[in-house]
Amino acid sequence: MTTLTLVRGDITRESADAIVNAANSSLLGGGGVDGAIHRRGGPAVLEECRRLRASSYGKGLPTGRAVATTAGDLDARWVIHTVGPVWSDTEDRSDLLASCYRESLRVADELGAATVAFPAISTGVYGWPVEDGARIAVRTVRETDTSVREVRFVLFDERAYEAFAAQVRPRTR
Ligand code: ADP
Repeated sequence: MTTLTLVRGDITRESADAIVNAANSSLLGGGGVDGAIHRRGGPAVLEECRRLRASSYGKGLPTGRAVATTAGDLDARWVIHTVGPVWSDTEDRSDLLASCYRESLRVADELGAATVAFPAISTGVYGWPVEDGARIAVRTVRETDTSVREVRFVLFDERAYEAFAAQVRPRTR
């Protein structure tokens, strides 16, 4: 049984077996949560990302996929990097966003991670409407067969927190 929990705050302050990063396909850092994870995780995270680029992911990590590195100085054993889709008005990319959650959990299972913290993937610079992003996140985690015991969504602002809360605890009236 996987328990879903919600926290409002900065994911780089969380303690978990694995912390998921909303990366970009370069794996070499960026803004938002990606920048924060690299800042607090320190150079060991970037070093391992560079090695991945030099070996298995020469062209970068494709959208919807996930890969793990050390967590460096974060209070975690691993960072799982996943690349969310950029929101599109003309194309439904929901499957790719769901794939980020599914693939991250698959990698977590391979590692033996029991607790995994996720940010609201794609809902920042990539422009995904947060209510829809929350719906896809919660539904996908609920539908995924995983040994992860706790999935913790760490939401940076009140609006994202409320959007996830509405999915986890739907109102009955
Ligand atoms: P993306 O490019 O996938 O949209 P962003 O980092 O821009 O990634 O935003 C994804 C989500 O992460 C947004 O909801 C944003 O508010 C949130 N976020 C930004 N910094 C942090 C942080 N330190 N901890 C948790 N969530 C964060």
